[in-house]
Amino acid sequence: MPLFRADLHLHTCLSPCGDLDMSPRALVAAAREKGLDMIAVSDHNSAENAAAVIRAAGLRPMVIPGLEICTVEEVHVLGLFETVHAALSMQDLVYQRLTDQPHRPDLFGDQVVVNEEDDVLGFVDRMLIGAVSLDLTQVVAAIHERGGLAVASHVDRPMFGLLAVLGFVPENPALDALELSRRVDPGRFLAERPDARGHPLIRSSDAHHPDQVGLAWTEFELESPTFREIRMALKGENGRRIHALYPPPRPTGMNAAGG
Ligand SMILES: [Zn+2]
Ligand SMILES: [Zn+2]
Repeated sequence: MPLFRADLHLHTCLSPCGDLDMSPRALVAAAREKGLDMIAVSDHNSAENAAAVIRAAGLRPMVIPGLEICTVEEVHVLGLFETVHAALSMQDLVYQRLTDQPHRPDLFGDQVVVNEEDDVLGFVDRMLIGAVSLDLTQVVAAIHERGGLAVASHVDRPMFGLLAVLGFVPENPALDALELSRRVDPGRFLAERPDARGHPLIRSSDAHHPDQVGLAWTEFELESPTFREIRMALKGENGRRIHALYPPPRPTGMNAAGG
């Protein structure tokens, strides 16, 4: 079965911490340059730029619309969806449960909505960076109700990572995958975290700047680059599977903090 490179966690200029250069066209150009077959757009608590990236990409790379939701526990969870409609339905719920505090671009940066030509359409004036008033169980249930995949973001990180916040990988809610950061060796991670065994592991870049796109990715064995095939691979169905995580782990003895 053919192999496809997927970087399933990318921010755009809509994320207040995202680079303003992270426009749909720049993101797509960076993904093509890195040889990515599939990407996911996952801005903080919003999917307002997802359709623009899909249109900018055309046939390649294949773009999965999504959001990176901050739960009330302050765990980051990716909601990845088959359609923009489903992603925007999740966004509706998230917007209902976000703080009413106005956004402070002077403190956090602009939240720019753009089209596929990189024209600025407007700015989101509510604060996207905070937590929603939904717990992890509620967020995962809402993603699944909309046919989506729930992936715990950067589970190894001290900030907003599942393990640092909860201290363990819960059996319930059932997460569809755990995402590892770029520098974490999956073998060592599983040796240290037996509670993570049995959960599919993926790796993504969490890029906020164009030069970070594709610094990490997951190679999938799929019939074709589609959302449904990714879902089958995470479940290990019909020969679809996760083939490898990139970059590969460093040889032991090298400084894991470097590079
Ligand atoms: Zn995050
Ligand atoms: Zn992120």
